Amino acid sequence: MVDLISQYQDIKSEVDAAMQEVVASAQFIKGPRVAAFETNLANYLGAKHVIGCANGTDALQVALMALDLQAGDEVIVPSFTYVATAEVIALLGLKPIMIDVELDSFNVNGDLVAAAITEKTKAIVPVHLFGQSTDMQPIMDLAKGLKIPVIEDNAQAIGAVYNGHQKAGTIGDIGCTSFFPSKNLGCYGDGGAIFTNSEELDAKIRMIANHGQSRRYYHDSIGVNSRLDALQAVVLDIKLKRLDQYNAARQKAAAYYDAAFKNIATLQIPFQAKHSTHVFHQYTLRVKNGRRDALQTFLKERGIPTGIYYPVPLYRQKAYQHYFDQNQGLPNTEVLCQEVLSLPMHSELDKELLDYIAGSVVDFFKA
Ligand SMILES: *Cc1c(COP(=O)(O)O)cnc(C)c1O
Repeated sequence: MVDLISQYQDIKSEVDAAMQEVVASAQFIKGPRVAAFETNLANYLGAKHVIGCANGTDALQVALMALDLQAGDEVIVPSFTYVATAEVIALLGLKPIMIDVELDSFNVNGDLVAAAITEKTKAIVPVHLFGQSTDMQPIMDLAKGLKIPVIEDNAQAIGAVYNGHQKAGTIGDIGCTSFFPSKNLGCYGDGGAIFTNSEELDAKIRMIANHGQSRRYYHDSIGVNSRLDALQAVVLDIKLKRLDQYNAARQKAAAYYDAAFKNIATLQIPFQAKHSTHVFHQYTLRVKNGRRDALQTFLKERGIPTGIYYPVPLYRQKAYQHYFDQNQGLPNTEVLCQEVLSLPMHSELDKELLDYIAGSVVDFFKA
C-alpha cells in the first residue's frame, strides 16, 4: 500500500546526516530541533502555534483535555473514521455522538452536525477523511453561534487546502495530526502534532502534554506525557520541505487511476469537493453491486494489496455499541462499510505499477 523504502532512498544522505547529528548531540527530548520543526510546520500551515506530541491519538486526547469538559458531555464525531477519534472521547469519560457522513465525500457536513446538537454538546470533531477537508465553514458558523469548540482530526489531510487559502486543520479551534510512517507526512516511528491560533490554548496544551506542569515540578492540572522526539523532528523537517511535492505525486497517481476507471459503471471514483483540494491519503473507490470483496480477492491473487477503511461502523464495534441504539443504523455509513476499497497510494507509484494495478481492476470488470 505504501513504499517508504524508495522514499527514504531518495532523501537518505540528508536524513542520515541529520539523525547522526541528533545522536551526537545526545539531545533527544525537546530542544532546538523539535522547536524548529514546530515553527516550520506552523509556517507551512499558516497556524500561529504547533505543539509536537507522541502520536495522533494523543494529539486528539490532549486537545480534548484542553477544553475542560465534564464527564458525560457529548462530543460529535463521524461514525465512519479511524477508531482513535472516538476512542479518546470515551477514554475521557465523555460521550461520543457518532453521526453519519456524506456518501460522496465520506465526511460530515453542517446539516448532519446540526441535527445532532443537544444542550449537552460540548465539542465537535470533524475528520478530514482520506485527504480531503470537511466543508468547515457551515460547521464553524454553527459552532460559533453556540460557542461549541471544534477540533479537526487532520491525521489524513495534511497539506490539503480549504476554500483556496486555508490549510486543513487550521480552521477549527484546534487541529490534530499524526506522523505515523504511512501518513502523508510520516516520521520513522510515532509522532503527532496539535495546531491552534489561540495563545491561551497553546499554553494549556503544552502544559497538559507535559504532565500538567507550567514550570518544572509544579503541576497545575493532571496531564499526560506526550512528546515528539528530536530524531523524529529532523526527519519531519526534511520531509516537510517535500510535502507539497509528495502530495502532488499522490494527486498525479489518483488522476491516473481516475482516468482508467471513469467508464466503469460499478465503480465510483473519489469525489472532488469544490471546497477542498484532495491530498489522497487514501485512494478510495466505492465498488457497487456487492462486488467489492470479489475485486479485493481478484487483486490479491495478482499480488496487489488493497485496504478496507473501514469495514465496520464505529457504532457497531463491540467497544462502542453501548453509545448507540443498535436498532438504528446510519444509512450512508452502512453503505460505505460495504463498498469502500482503497488501492495502493503513495508518492513513489510509477507508471509501470499504476498500469499494472489499474489494468488489473479493469480486467476484473471485463471478466
Ligand atoms: C492515523 C489516525 C489517527 C491516529 O494517529 P496515530 O498517530 O496512529 O495515533 C487518528 N485519526 C485518524 C483519522 C487517523 O487516520
